[in-house]
Amino acid sequence: MKFLRTTVEEKETGKNTTQYDNIKDPQILSSQLLNTKKSFRYKKYTHIRISEIHSFCPREYALGFLTDTSQKNFVDFPLQQQFDLGSAIHFWVQNKSKVFKDVLYGNFKCLACQRLRENKDGSLYFGTRPNTPCPFCGANQQATEYNEFMFRVDEPYRVVGKMDAIIFKEAYRIGDFKSYWQRPPSGFPIGKDVIQLASYMYFYDQLPDEIKFPVKIDTSCGYLHYISKKFTYSDSILTYPIRPTEKMIRPIINNVAIFTEAVKTRTIQAHLNYCLRSELKKDRAKDCYLSDLCKEYYYNNVVKC
Ligand SMILES: [Zn+2]
Repeated sequence: MKFLRTTVEEKETGKNTTQYDNIKDPQILSSQLLNTKKSFRYKKYTHIRISEIHSFCPREYALGFLTDTSQKNFVDFPLQQQFDLGSAIHFWVQNKSKVFKDVLYGNFKCLACQRLRENKDGSLYFGTRPNTPCPFCGANQQATEYNEFMFRVDEPYRVVGKMDAIIFKEAYRIGDFKSYWQRPPSGFPIGKDVIQLASYMYFYDQLPDEIKFPVKIDTSCGYLHYISKKFTYSDSILTYPIRPTEKMIRPIINNVAIFTEAVKTRTIQAHLNYCLRSELKKDRAKDCYLSDLCKEYYYNNVVKC
């Protein structure tokens, strides 16, 4: 640790001079005072994340899982800040907002003792934000956070998902929050958001009853809430009801099934016509973390791992 030199006089007046005082550039001062380093990201290919279900490649996942390769990369600070601000809005909606307070249902966790709130009979509490102290440790209810419902399953499909909200208004429905700056030219709702929410609804239905909520979730419809980061009279929160259709969900299930099957049989199927058209140089292949391995296995006809 480096100590800055402080004179006796500075101590008495409470005024210090630091090595940062002459930096005039706001960007440089930020980088000197704060931590704006890249963030490290690590991702294993064990289950399909529902947040990326609209664009994942089952072959990339199968290759990653069967060769035990994980994605390791760095995210630049500006992009990380965007992710973090999105998360902050989610947190605000789930924990601070009075807009959602009466309709947001779910499980809650005490930050003091790290336990999920329970009912008197020991079952998991499900409801709106509790307004009583933690029954286990007595911590004030303000130390209670919304606990997003998370599931990670191998059967019937290998998926992992974390749901933003259960919204109750006459029926319990799954809600998903998206923060936005500007309406996209093609309008809301955005296709990939629709697919993501429809997938939560579909895969929730497939879960074993023991891990489901104690109330019946109406998965015929869910809500996409677009929350504006910019001041606007008309579009502060835009809510779209999403009713999944077979046509919408079928291609997703097929892709998830390919990966699930690949894990069981340790077989890698071709399924890359899309990438082959550009000889694995363009489109999806360009962003594929395992494109070299994919190419190598493809041209050497490797199908078993
Ligand atoms: Zn507690």
